Amino acid sequence: MPSNSTRVAGRHFLQIPGPTPVPDRILRAMDMPVLDHRGPEFQKLGRRVLENIKGVFKTKSHVFIFPASGTGAWEASLTNVLSPGDKVLMFETGHFSTLWKNMAIKLGLEPIFIEADWRTGAQPDAIEARLREDKNHEIKAVCVVHNETSTGCVSPIGAVRKAIDAAGHPALYLVDTISSLASIDFRHDEWGVDVTVSGSQKGLMLPPGLSFNAVSEKALAASKTAKLPKLFWSWEEMIPHNKNGFFPYTPGTNLLYGLDAAIDMLNEEGLDNVFARHDRHAEATRRAVRAWGLEILCREPAHYSSSLTAVIVPDGHNADDFRAKVLDAFDMSLGTGLTKLTGKVFRIGHLGDTNDLTIMAALAGVEMGLELAGIPHKKGGVAAAMEYFTSEARKNQPSLAAAE
Ligand SMILES: *Cc1c(COP(=O)(O)O)cnc(C)c1O
Repeated sequence: MPSNSTRVAGRHFLQIPGPTPVPDRILRAMDMPVLDHRGPEFQKLGRRVLENIKGVFKTKSHVFIFPASGTGAWEASLTNVLSPGDKVLMFETGHFSTLWKNMAIKLGLEPIFIEADWRTGAQPDAIEARLREDKNHEIKAVCVVHNETSTGCVSPIGAVRKAIDAAGHPALYLVDTISSLASIDFRHDEWGVDVTVSGSQKGLMLPPGLSFNAVSEKALAASKTAKLPKLFWSWEEMIPHNKNGFFPYTPGTNLLYGLDAAIDMLNEEGLDNVFARHDRHAEATRRAVRAWGLEILCREPAHYSSSLTAVIVPDGHNADDFRAKVLDAFDMSLGTGLTKLTGKVFRIGHLGDTNDLTIMAALAGVEMGLELAGIPHKKGGVAAAMEYFTSEARKNQPSLAAAE
């Protein structure tokens, strides 16, 4: 809320890469009396969401749902399949991959961290080379963040699978899709992922508070002998209850009503259309950034994220001062630079329940904010995005093309 007034009319622009704005339909779906989580009414809901969530992960195997933020699902992914002292190969894509690595250390694992500069996704060649060196197969898991939310770079998850296979290595494959699921195409089964980690508050359009592990048969088998301690996160505790639509402890009942609605909405739009919409919003944003003469942090076009774009501010300027001005002037929240990117970048979130005009307004807020903050830039970013959206509308709707 701008500091100089008491009430701000209209909706706050939450353009951070998660949490994302929750659609009214989902808010209404959750606006229900809390129900008996051991009763027959809940059982129907539990069965439905446990079954239907599989389609979003593109898997036929089981998806566990925890009442927790994404960090919990990270912990669940590691503790269910690994034992103390196990080596895990992780790739440094940015802030979130670093946090996952630090968690692995705290849990008593031995991560091997392939270092990189936070401007690309994971590199399959580097992973393959490291696995080939591991002749005795001491590495038990490869961990990759699909969409690195701190940088706006996407890792090629299918290509990393091929790299693991090319090295002939039996390690499990763990992937964080917290900011990519339901925004960027992800295929748990086809890409041979063993544990997929995700969360509710980004592409799934829900409030924070649910997180997920989609697991392969191989991961389930590994969980039978994994020795890291767990109870809250234990798949084994969950399985017998989930079979009947229940959970071993109190689930996030009202969030599950929301999840039920979110899955319906994704299916009504069609996942491919959801991904195409995210691609379009990302492309419009990048065109605006280029027109402003600013630099996109991700330097590998093949790794550009459709969830968010991180923008570098020129030397001598502070991205957080700019963000504060945008918030004050226009009631819009942009994402901050995390850890080593603090003050150097701002992030424009374009994921979740968003349309072309919302993106246009967000880009207008950025362009005006650049002016207010005195950040050197050229005009015309908003115009470039408008031109792109117009041509996309013509392309996608034949009746509009006729008007040309
Ligand atoms: C948001 C995010 C996390 C952390 O999730 P929390 O819900 O904040 O615990 C982890 N990884 C990625 C890629 C994220 O975007």
